[in-house]
Amino acid sequence: MADETIDGASLLARSLKAQGVEYMFGIVGIPVIELAMAAQAAGIKYIGMRNEQAASYAASAIGYLTGKPAVCLVVSGPGLIHAIAGIANAAENCWPLIVVGGSSEADQEGMGAFQETPQVELCRPYCKFTARPNRLERLPFYVEKAVRHSIYGRPGPCYIDLAGNMVTERVDVKDVRPDVTCQSPPKTLAEPDRIKEAIDLLHYAEKPLVIIGKGAAYARAEDSVREFVETNGFPFLPTPMGKGVLPDDHELCVSPARSKALQEADVILLLGARLNWILHFGLPPRFNPKVKVIMVDILAEEMNNNVQNAVSLVGHLDAVVSQLNERINKIPGRFVFNRKSPWWKTLDGKVKQNQVAVQGMIDDKSEPLNYYAAYEEIRQLLPRDYIIISEGANTMDISRTMVPNFLPRHRLDAGTYGTMGVGLGFATAAGIWCRDHTPGNQVVSIQGDSAFGFSGMEIETICRYKLPVIMIIINNGGIYTGLPEDTWSSIQDMDLTLSSPPTSLIPAARYEKMIEAFGGKGYCARTTEQIKAAFTEALQNKQQVSLINIIISPMAQRKTQDFDWLTKSKM
Ligand code: ADP
Ligand code: MG
Repeated sequence: MADETIDGASLLARSLKAQGVEYMFGIVGIPVIELAMAAQAAGIKYIGMRNEQAASYAASAIGYLTGKPAVCLVVSGPGLIHAIAGIANAAENCWPLIVVGGSSEADQEGMGAFQETPQVELCRPYCKFTARPNRLERLPFYVEKAVRHSIYGRPGPCYIDLAGNMVTERVDVKDVRPDVTCQSPPKTLAEPDRIKEAIDLLHYAEKPLVIIGKGAAYARAEDSVREFVETNGFPFLPTPMGKGVLPDDHELCVSPARSKALQEADVILLLGARLNWILHFGLPPRFNPKVKVIMVDILAEEMNNNVQNAVSLVGHLDAVVSQLNERINKIPGRFVFNRKSPWWKTLDGKVKQNQVAVQGMIDDKSEPLNYYAAYEEIRQLLPRDYIIISEGANTMDISRTMVPNFLPRHRLDAGTYGTMGVGLGFATAAGIWCRDHTPGNQVVSIQGDSAFGFSGMEIETICRYKLPVIMIIINNGGIYTGLPEDTWSSIQDMDLTLSSPPTSLIPAARYEKMIEAFGGKGYCARTTEQIKAAFTEALQNKQQVSLINIIISPMAQRKTQDFDWLTKSKM
């Protein structure tokens, strides 16, 4: 009997499947068409996108939602270069991702081959592991190693380069390395002495604060974190994507008093969040100069970055918080932090004060609408189990306040890298995930008109796969702000468009008409009643992909801030 052989595409697909990869997002072309087909044949779901950027964002979002990497499949040269956006974004967000790039033929290297590009070198600074296998027999080894590196320790992206000739070359099955399945990541514990120190510090804190980051969400630590916060009665504050680890309407959540809580806390327990720009580097004036930080993170090198920690707890977040819980449960007559304490009184007061300020904006229903009035209609109707995608400048910042999250890993936004254009890639991934794992639920993607523009053509992808996604565009006709329609008309009449503000886009553009080209349903809403009617219908009509274009005031702003989100701390 002749020896059985297998081609490179099928072998790679088989190895990915053996490592538990469920989804592949990509765009086919030379030399990866066979790879996508082989993935389908191996039982991996292949989602064809319209731009590699969006494909790389989508695949990385699956990594965050499931804790298992998805694959982004790209063609050589420009295809890979487009995907670097998503690779860098995944690296910044600490999300697992496997990128597979087809590349030029190995024996044409250096000759000016079609799309010849130093692909491995381009990926290296953003990846935990990169490889250009030189023998088909070893593909299973590289795939296991890439998957392992993407999820062990701090998660991140990995890259596998496959020379075009290797896609179709064949190898004897008997020579192929067997698939060794990557084991789930170790749940490492923190040093026991440090656990004791952390509890002692928290015990004597007058103004304790727990900050919950997206590392806690990724670690699936919702149960241990809830136990910790509730047994101790500590106030907590989620970061943007830490929202939902505990519900935003939890009685111990102090999000509306964010600035105050950060500024005055004397002991902060940091659960899976870096002291980077999102948390103002942990420095004054946004933080108390004497604050004692207890940091929990899986990456030892992250400890003491910007601020010297009082206690460093290196380990898997769920395991470490469970250690903290265990220790606290052993303390006889342990206390619950008093709701009547001066600290809680300060925070509760500030929460009320900020709620009143926001209510003022909500109640202002004058047209064109402001952000808050528009968001209020959405908030009133949103089910608790939706996944929210949120991006844009004001659109995203205001949604942090106005659109609550109730479940972990149910919010995806511009993230650590502040990337604009992630929205529809994330919506595609969340839509697929939702369809497969929580059928009947929907994804609500809220984007500014500028953010929507980056990957607008992915509405065709979302419609093609009939994903349960409602796209909402908060349309102010510009980046940050736009121009009123009549001002814009005069600018055009006078042929002055090239002198218009760089922030302007076409005011009141009718984006909802785009989705009709792909069989979806578009709505345009300018009043609170129209938003309500459109969103109600979109939520009921689950078989239909909908896009609601909400036209708001081009001059709408955020409520006045004590500190602006991006204000730099004095270093
Ligand atoms: P946020 O944007 O919410 O502030 P960051 O992305 O800055 O969060 O921080 C997330 C942190 O979580 C990273 O430092 C990362 O190393 C850490 N992390 C990721 N997974 C785990 C885990 N399983 N256990 C502990 N820490 C983790
Ligand atoms: Mg805008």
